[in-house]
Amino acid sequence: MTNPSLFHKEDQTVRHFSKLLRSDQYQNNPLLPELESLLSNYQALLRKLERVTKVSDKQQISLHEMVKTDGLTGVNNRNHLEYFLRLEWKRSLDLQVPLSVIMIDIDYFKVYNDTYGHQAGDNCLVQVANILSASVKRSSDFVARYGGEEFIIVLGDCHPDFAAEIAGSIKSSLTDANIPHEGSDVADRVTLSIGIATQVPDSESSVETLIKRADDALYKAKTQGRNRIISGSEVTQE
Ligand code: GH3
Ligand code: MG
Ligand code: MG
Repeated sequence: MTNPSLFHKEDQTVRHFSKLLRSDQYQNNPLLPELESLLSNYQALLRKLERVTKVSDKQQISLHEMVKTDGLTGVNNRNHLEYFLRLEWKRSLDLQVPLSVIMIDIDYFKVYNDTYGHQAGDNCLVQVANILSASVKRSSDFVARYGGEEFIIVLGDCHPDFAAEIAGSIKSSLTDANIPHEGSDVADRVTLSIGIATQVPDSESSVETLIKRADDALYKAKTQGRNRIISGSEVTQE
C-alpha cells in the first residue's frame, strides 16, 4: 500500500519555499513570478506522482491475487494450494496436530457439459465452489480448485470427525441448491463424490501421501457408486 507520508519530505519542501517566496526579501525579486510558477508545477507533479503510485499499488495487489486465484471460480488455484499444503504440513508436523484433506469431484460432469453446454458447466463449477467456500468457517480453512471439476479443502488442526461434518454439510448444501442433472446415473441433480484423509504428520510420510490417501478415498467413493463420502473405512451414503 502507498505510504501516506510517501511525499512528506517533498511537501515540507513546498511549504518551506512557499513561505520563503511570501517573505519580504522576495517581494521585489524580479524572478518571483517564475519561482512561484515553478513551485506550483512541482506541487502538481507531486500530486500526479501520488495518484500514479496509488494505481500501481492497486495493480500489484490484484496481480498478486490473480497469481493465487482460479480465474473461473475465485477460489485458490492449484499453484497456491501446493504452496499452502507444504506450509500447513510443516506447521502440523511442528505442532503435532491432525491435518485433514477433503477431495471433491463432481459426478458425471462430462455428461453435464454435453447436456447443458460448456457455459452452464462453468456456472455449475462456480456454484459448487461457492458452496465449498460457504461451508468452511475458520479463516485458516483453505478451498482450492485442484483441476477441472475437482476441488480440495485443507483443514489444519482438524480431526476426521469434523472434516466429515464439513463434507456432509457440503453435500446437503448441494442437495438444497438442487441443480438439475438429467444425464446423471445417480440422481436427477448434480452430486459429488468426496474422499477424506486425515493425518498427524510425521517424518516418514509427506504431504503427497496425505493427498494420495484422500484421492484413494475419492476413488472408492466413485467405484462404490458415486454421490457419497468416504472417510477412511467409514461410508456415509445419502
Ligand atoms: P466422474 O463421475 O467419474 O467424475 O465422471 P466425470 O464426467 O465427472 O469425469 P471426467 O473426468 O470424465 O470429465 C470431467 C469433465 O470436466 C470433462 C471436462 O470437459 C469438464 N471440465 C473440466 N474443466 C472444465 C471447465 O473449466 N469448465 C467446464 N464447463 N467443464 C470442464
Ligand atoms: Mg474428475
Ligand atoms: Mg467428475
